[in-house]
Amino acid sequence: MSIDMTKPLPETQPWTQAFWDGTREGKLLVQVCRQCQARIFAPRKRCPQCWSSDLGWIESAGRGTVYTFSTAYSGVEPKFTDELPYTIAYVDLAEGIRLMTRIVGCDPAELAIGMEVEVVFHDRDGFRLPYFRPAQNGNADE
Ligand SMILES: [Zn+2]
Repeated sequence: MSIDMTKPLPETQPWTQAFWDGTREGKLLVQVCRQCQARIFAPRKRCPQCWSSDLGWIESAGRGTVYTFSTAYSGVEPKFTDELPYTIAYVDLAEGIRLMTRIVGCDPAELAIGMEVEVVFHDRDGFRLPYFRPAQNGNADE
């Protein structure tokens, strides 16, 4: 029996396509309700606050803070052992949404709730996945 080493990819839907098109352009988009101004994540067909389908997008500055996180040091599926330690986090964006993501570029022992983080895109099989790393103060370019 062979082990499937293929890492999963997002399954796009018509209402998430703009989000993934945005990441391909290096933009982190946040869905916004044009009726009640609610910020929405994950993208939906209708506003969860007022049920309007009049939804649009704003571009996030890509900065936020760590709400909580968990790091796996072992015990993941074989397809992910090359990425250990593997940190999953909830990040609160400045634009008012909370998204589940990954933290990279950081020793997990240095990570803390409330830490400022910024988006960094990782290419995988035609997608650009929005991960986060500790915010680089000052010039964002490395
Ligand atoms: Zn609404």
